[in-house]
Amino acid sequence: MSMKDSKNRRKQKVPPPSSEAALSRMKAAKPKDTAPEMALRSEIHRRGYRYRVDTKPLKELNRRADIVFRPTKVAVFVDGCFWHGCPIHGTQAKANSEFWQTKIQQNRERDADTTLRLEEAGWKVIRVWEHEDTKEAAEIICALVRERRNKNG
Ligand SMILES: [Zn+2]
Repeated sequence: MSMKDSKNRRKQKVPPPSSEAALSRMKAAKPKDTAPEMALRSEIHRRGYRYRVDTKPLKELNRRADIVFRPTKVAVFVDGCFWHGCPIHGTQAKANSEFWQTKIQQNRERDADTTLRLEEAGWKVIRVWEHEDTKEAAEIICALVRERRNKNG
């Protein structure tokens, strides 16, 4: 490595991805319509429930939920295992670990804050890990929507 190379390398604030897998995770940092999300949506749809997608539950709060049932105030977030630090897969970030851990920690804090704010406004928040069984998650979500519908009515 030349002197120039090592100097340039030191200048980089973001550590380079350690592997192809890490690179693909970086690229997926702001995923839209991920496969687990679409699978969950179609399971809910199949059960006859309608919802909005990728929208803000609260107009004044600049946070989007993946699936939103506005009349019953149910917001669903499908959280990526890596970026949101799931208990099973969230520890994969070994290389560059300080950088990743900080990122993941920030996401988790933001998630918790979003949940808190929505609940304060009378919403029910459901968080689904991307590794979770789609049908089971859909069952839980539809049951909750049904329950809140009955209460409201
Ligand atoms: Zn996971």
